[in-house]
Amino acid sequence: MTDGAWSATPPGLTPREVATHCPYCALQCGMTLREDDAGVTVHPRQFPTNRGGLCQKGWTAAELLDHPQRLTTPLVRDPATDTLHPASWDTALDRVVAGIRAVQDDAGRDAVAVFGGGGLTNEKAYALGKFARIGLRTRHIDYNGRFCMSSAAAAGMRAFGIDRGLPFPLADLGQADTLLLVGANPAETMPPLVRWLTEQRRNGGQLIVVDPRVTATARQADLHLQPLPGTDLAVANALLHIALTEGWVDRAYVADRTTGFDAVRRGVAAWWPARAEQLSGVPVADLEATARTLGTGGRVIILTARGAEQHAKGVDTVSAYVNLALALGLPGRAGSGYGCLTGQGNGQGGREHGQKADQLPGYRKIDDPAAREHVAGVWGVPADELPGPGVPAYQLLDSLGTPGGPRALLVFGSNPVVSAPRAARIEGRLRDLDLLVVADLLLSETAALADVVLPTAQWAEEDGTMTNLEGRVLRRRALRPPPPGVRTDLAIISDLAARLATDDTAAADAAARFPADPSTVFAELRRASAGGAADYAGISWDRIDADDGVYWPCPTEDGPDTPRLFADRFATPDGRARFHPVDHRPAAEEVCATYPLHFTTGRVLAQYQSGTQTRRVAALRRAAPEAFVELHPDLAARLGIDDGDPVRVTSRRGELCAPARLSAGIRPDTVFAPFHYAGAGRANSVTNDAVDPISGMPEFKICAVRVEKA
Ligand code: SF4
Repeated sequence: MTDGAWSATPPGLTPREVATHCPYCALQCGMTLREDDAGVTVHPRQFPTNRGGLCQKGWTAAELLDHPQRLTTPLVRDPATDTLHPASWDTALDRVVAGIRAVQDDAGRDAVAVFGGGGLTNEKAYALGKFARIGLRTRHIDYNGRFCMSSAAAAGMRAFGIDRGLPFPLADLGQADTLLLVGANPAETMPPLVRWLTEQRRNGGQLIVVDPRVTATARQADLHLQPLPGTDLAVANALLHIALTEGWVDRAYVADRTTGFDAVRRGVAAWWPARAEQLSGVPVADLEATARTLGTGGRVIILTARGAEQHAKGVDTVSAYVNLALALGLPGRAGSGYGCLTGQGNGQGGREHGQKADQLPGYRKIDDPAAREHVAGVWGVPADELPGPGVPAYQLLDSLGTPGGPRALLVFGSNPVVSAPRAARIEGRLRDLDLLVVADLLLSETAALADVVLPTAQWAEEDGTMTNLEGRVLRRRALRPPPPGVRTDLAIISDLAARLATDDTAAADAAARFPADPSTVFAELRRASAGGAADYAGISWDRIDADDGVYWPCPTEDGPDTPRLFADRFATPDGRARFHPVDHRPAAEEVCATYPLHFTTGRVLAQYQSGTQTRRVAALRRAAPEAFVELHPDLAARLGIDDGDPVRVTSRRGELCAPARLSAGIRPDTVFAPFHYAGAGRANSVTNDAVDPISGMPEFKICAVRVEKA
């Protein structure tokens, strides 16, 4: 069996240098990796999105390549001692295959589920979806991107007919007269992006930030609106109310390019500014100033991120800002628009190629007969053999090991023990499985529960493509092969597919169907995506190399790509964008006498996602070693808490304990904790598992808690 292919050196670099991108967030900063006898070092690289900048996470990314905790052999759980032990690949994969066969023979194909991640390359996301559908023949596959961008994706699809985070190049931010950031904190999540905000303000632009906390980004804003968590939708409706009242709505644009405005107009009529102030706490004067800046601001860009999206009404909240953008005539107008700041490294590509429960490659719907025919044709199977849609991530995780739910789970590139809401419950579900298999480079908290752990290659050890927050498809290039004993995810999928076959002929056929070589997978992905919304048919690796990336859709090799969408039409059947009337509704859990405070979660600069990687990097650990609970000094005084005191945050679902960090930058009725940590500081022990009815996005950003000195 192969350990997976890796690339030759790109032109212009020495054999021990490679031009690639950061392994972490969706900005996908350009970097050069250089290897000498002292090890691998990171060097910033000029690339259109980061222009030579890197954040601390990117600078230190190479430390994990030779990290002492790196997994370099499979681990298999000994049932007698309930501990993990090193094993050969044959032993580990045989155990996986035996476990899959046992639960599928007993309970049917859907008894096995697959859970992917928004950090996987496009090739892996594609192969994983294909493996679930025609290797395992289960309908159960979803991924952690459901916890990240799914509400913006759903809102974009229903308004524009397409979901691309930014429908314009990032550089447009620097030229905007007005930028409205809603629930976004790029100064901590993707610091090199701040260059564009600085440029925008240097050009005389206005930056307005909507966030319940005075974040590093909010501190740079000309105007900061600080609403109660969960009231962003009401703020948007009030802004549109004011724009209507003041005559700032672009009537010609609305008439020519949209449908459904009348219902929205009637809905926002009830959102007079004083009502929004009463609900959100944002002063009427600030609402009016914001609406005026947006309505009279020339080139205007509205961006949302997780703060607005991670709610049980996340889709409607994003729709409220899309409605505002459409009413002002922004989407498709040069230099203006609406966009979502995607979070995970391949959060965009990861949601396009089939690892979502309801999706086939090219952003096709799995219940669309024509889509099924097309993809089944590429895969060489009858369309009626493809399973139907599965269920969204939280629903899937919460069904594991329950009657009728999956009894085996394969996890690639995800750590739901830390990242899922109501995490203790999900941890229990994972423990109830007959078989848990985790492919990871380190022993994450989820891998520690597994029956089989498969050690995988890191970003600098494999080739592939990533699609950044702009919809720009990029090359990830290998500096060196994986260490002995480690395989790529593609090689693991290929091997499992072959071993699941019933005879040698079928095994050879399966290995051919699931190639371990990423360039072969990408060639097939191009054919599978052809004609879909996310059309990669014209994107070759050579073209990416030549052009600093290629924007999808790009249907032909000799035709243009699409840096800007919507200039002439939207991707709906009639070419018009759709307004959706949306109204505020309370959070799924409101404060009460027992749980009188709002709890919200977010990120810190030096950690990334569930922290599996960044918590093991020495410099990042020093910078952000542990969880904390941020609370206002007035609240702290009332509770008898001093800065640094250990505090306990308790919700109906669990508790977290961490040192207090006092900050006048948070509302006195709200407490905050970062979500990167495990153990006692796990923020998701507290969060609510209520989900958005359309996107399946959990309500990470608000629940009710009480706080006390621990
Ligand atoms: S984590 Fe994001 S912002 Fe930081 S270097 Fe990597 S890609 Fe750039």
